[in-house]
Amino acid sequence: GDEEHSGRRVLLKLSGEAFGGGAVGLDPDVVKGIARQIAAAHRTGVQIAVVMGGGNFFRGAQLQQRGMERARADYMGMLGTVMNCLALQDFLEKEGVDTRVQTAITMGQVAEPYIPRKAIRHLEKGRVVIFGAGAGMPYFSTDTVSAQRALEIKCDQVLMSKHGVDGVYTADPRTDDGAVKLDELTFSEALSGNLRVVDAAAFSLCMDNELPMLVFGMDDEDAITRAITGERIGTMVTA
Ligand code: UDP
Repeated sequence: GDEEHSGRRVLLKLSGEAFGGGAVGLDPDVVKGIARQIAAAHRTGVQIAVVMGGGNFFRGAQLQQRGMERARADYMGMLGTVMNCLALQDFLEKEGVDTRVQTAITMGQVAEPYIPRKAIRHLEKGRVVIFGAGAGMPYFSTDTVSAQRALEIKCDQVLMSKHGVDGVYTADPRTDDGAVKLDELTFSEALSGNLRVVDAAAFSLCMDNELPMLVFGMDDEDAITRAITGERIGTMVTA
């Protein structure tokens, strides 16, 4: 509907890897489940913007290792995020949620261009805004873009969902048995500890602008709904 949404405003980063369900491409059942969770949270009146990842299609750095020019490979990565955006849009609309996709690379037939003031207006009208194509710039990641978009459209929090890990650990839990999960830490602790579950550039943007970041695992049941509605799952990172 067109009723005003006046609750808190969050930026949700969705990992592209999760959309693939463990393979290259898209698993519609996974996207449907994620859309259901976002719709449930949306019904409580939270304004939700999404930055979509694209690791299920292409990662520029990996294509570079296989011989491609980095910038071109990064553009392929950005285009991959747009396919995820359209899939998420489809399943959100099936859940009865109004949506708009805005892309950092203009493609008028499939999405609006990124216009921050218009994005804010959509959110106020209760639409979920899905941002695609990252920053439109090679050498950036969708984590970093999440922090940037959250700042520009004035979100209260950035919610970094992660696939395969449920928060920030003292070391990489996949390789270090002694790794312990942290309930909270500061951005400077994350940076000095080289805790790379989120990009350093994203941590540092949030630190400089005092934007709180929740890092949480999207694999747990209802984790996305819980994070959007303000439950403190995962790890809270603050300035
Ligand atoms: N990318 C980019 N600039 C951006 C955002 C993304 O070049 O502003 C490219 C980059 O190659 C990246 C790929 O798009 O590897 C997919 O994004 P990301 O790896 O952040 O997706 P996720 O890991 O969240 O699925």
